[in-house]
Amino acid sequence: MSLVQELKPGRLYLFSLDHDSEIVASITNLAESLRVEAGVVSGIGALQKAEIGYYDQKTHEYRTIEIDRPMEISSLIGNVSIRDGKPFLHAHVTLADSEGNVKGGHLSRGTVFAAEIYLRELIGRPLERCHDPTTDLFLWSETR
Ligand code: ZN
Repeated sequence: MSLVQELKPGRLYLFSLDHDSEIVASITNLAESLRVEAGVVSGIGALQKAEIGYYDQKTHEYRTIEIDRPMEISSLIGNVSIRDGKPFLHAHVTLADSEGNVKGGHLSRGTVFAAEIYLRELIGRPLERCHDPTTDLFLWSETR
């Protein structure tokens, strides 16, 4: 554990996303318009289709998993921090099909059927993402 930061709870938001909207862009735009620089996100709902990712720890590349059918968002969990000076959403999802089978991973994009999102702002020193040479990912760092 190399980065520990004490944050205080800020504003709380519940919102419903528009049908046909793109879920990652919608949550990111809301965080940006509300000026949320750090926060936690969770949600439930349904997607018409989705693209999730699996990060290959050997090649340091995301493998894309396309899901071209309606799925329940049985769980969406993530956070908002700052990357390249702007609010950035990092979210993972578990999506369930009509049989109740699930697929999960890094949420790259998804077309909303309906979604109820909870955003909790956290107040403190902004969490900023910077490139980490070990993992090749943009992780939280102590640059400010
Ligand atoms: Zn991820």
